[in-house]
Amino acid sequence: MGHGWEGVVLKLMRGKDYEFTVTGVEQITEHYRRVSCTDGGMLAATGVHPTMWVRLWFDDNGRPHQRAYTLVEPDPATGTFHLEFALHDGCASRWARAARPGDRIQATVQGTGFTLPHPPPGHLLAVGDCASLPAVNSLLAALPGTPAQVWLETQHDTDAELPVGPDDGSCRVRRVARRRGGADLVAEVRSALTAMTPAELADAYLWFTCDTATTRALAQLARKELGLARGQLHALGYWRP
Ligand SMILES: Cc1cc2nc3c(=O)[nH]c(=O)nc-3n(C[C@H](O)[C@H](O)[C@H](O)COP(=O)(O)OP(=O)(O)OC[C@H]3O[C@@H](n4cnc5c(N)ncnc54)[C@H](O)[C@@H]3O)c2cc1C
Repeated sequence: MGHGWEGVVLKLMRGKDYEFTVTGVEQITEHYRRVSCTDGGMLAATGVHPTMWVRLWFDDNGRPHQRAYTLVEPDPATGTFHLEFALHDGCASRWARAARPGDRIQATVQGTGFTLPHPPPGHLLAVGDCASLPAVNSLLAALPGTPAQVWLETQHDTDAELPVGPDDGSCRVRRVARRRGGADLVAEVRSALTAMTPAELADAYLWFTCDTATTRALAQLARKELGLARGQLHALGYWRP
């Protein structure tokens, strides 16, 4: 399968192509599936960084369909990682549901990159959902011991079973059911952030990775209403509602 015009653009942007092979699958919950892969030489060439993601090329009835997925526990020494899929009705989810050892999928590395805040923040405030859970967990693992508050927007009862952060007491997790297209989550985060003192906010690093509309609303809250500095905040919409 060719990669169409998106593939041409990514090539111009120096995207590097790889092929992954599925080595195992694990159904974590009814709506969340882990697919283990070998990397086709990628990690040795690219190195790894927290929250690293790749562009996977799915086949949508013969048309290329490119979507981003986060690497879970990438290991350059063994050339392995996992992908974790929050399952819904989509082409990428269909591929994950059917994935079996030996399946192959093409990937392009372009656009990923994340540098941990320096100096390290006094605390971390992360807002995400099951699509960004791998990234949130990667971020938490990269800042061990940093006190963290995570809001995880959930869509299914079984999302309560998904592990968030380390269980060393450094991370508080609040699961918020998705209602009104994410507006309940935004309201809850707003009341928590506006209750914080300026000193507490100044010492925080904020990570917002929800659907595009929710992420935009949260970023506006942080930047425009609370006046937080650009370097204190990472905001990236993970899916279009
Ligand atoms: C940097 C980055 C990293 C990402 N990492 C991961 C990851 O590790 N794991 C992961 O599961 N997702 C991840 N995502 C999100 C994933 O790329 C999107 O959810 C993507 O749209 C899924 O593609 P699809 O082909 O299944 O559905 P699409 O064809 O894009 O959409 C089909 C339908 O499903 C809906 N939809 C799409 N995503 C979701 C969702 N998460 N929940 C509910 N409805 C949805 C759409 O609104 C649409 O109606 C990441 C996104 C980014 C930007």
